[in-house]
Amino acid sequence: MTSLTYSGGFLDRASDRRSDPGWVATVLDAAGTRLIPVWRDHCLVSGDPPGPVVTLDDGRSQAVHEAGTPLFLGMDGDVGVFAADLSPLDEERAVEIAGAERVGDMRAFAGTTSAADAAVLAYARGLVYWNRHQQFCGTCGAATLSRDGGHLRVCGSESCSWLHFPRIAPAVITLVESAGPPQRCLLARHNGSAPDSFALIAGFVEIGESLEDTVRREVAEETGVNVVTVEYVASQAWPFPSGLMAGFRATAASESITADGKEILEARWFTRAELAERAASGRPLGRVDSIDRHLLQSWLNQQ
Ligand SMILES: [Zn+2]
Repeated sequence: MTSLTYSGGFLDRASDRRSDPGWVATVLDAAGTRLIPVWRDHCLVSGDPPGPVVTLDDGRSQAVHEAGTPLFLGMDGDVGVFAADLSPLDEERAVEIAGAERVGDMRAFAGTTSAADAAVLAYARGLVYWNRHQQFCGTCGAATLSRDGGHLRVCGSESCSWLHFPRIAPAVITLVESAGPPQRCLLARHNGSAPDSFALIAGFVEIGESLEDTVRREVAEETGVNVVTVEYVASQAWPFPSGLMAGFRATAASESITADGKEILEARWFTRAELAERAASGRPLGRVDSIDRHLLQSWLNQQ
């Protein structure tokens, strides 16, 4: 299977060394250290054709410290790679420091950025987001302090000292297949989506659920279809802002559909021929960077 966008990151996260602040500082100060700028969930954009800035040149490295201590992402061989969080700056200053032309949504460049760069950019964005949103302890309200190069935050109150680890929100996305021939897959049209825009069933995992439990619940809630088998296919890093997508394939017990009318306006079974025809007529099989396209395309290819 080909690697999914934003997954398969190549950095050595050095989890055995990043807890040593002296080691992290030495890596940060070393010649050739890479700094990836992030500004409030956006990447910095420059070039022709425009693309995300994936490394600041050395001349800009010192200026970055104006915004705060960079977060350690990992080692690329002997070279340290950090996320430079420019969020405390206003947009104009962030663009200036990065030597960029503007800020932009990195997902807009998913089709033109290399898989390796997309994975690191997404990782940087996710780590910056979590640190920005974990500035205070959820237990006592005191300010938190960064540890482990930004992979842990510790409550600054000695009487609390709660450890805050990055929060990741898992979600499932499922291709439901009909039980009997002709094999068809279940797609739904979500409230707010364009007419004739159909997608796979997806939803967040709730407390106390396994991933398979979530698949069964979401499919039943949104379409009224009960599934009898649930098989894991693949997962995808989805730090927009803090997700993890787990892809499944399930088999339906019956084909009767009852859309919930709220989240899902309509759900339908599609044959492979119908899906292929939709793709050929320019209606994409999911987003280019998303696991839903992988699930749909691999099902389509399986004939
Ligand atoms: Zn606390």
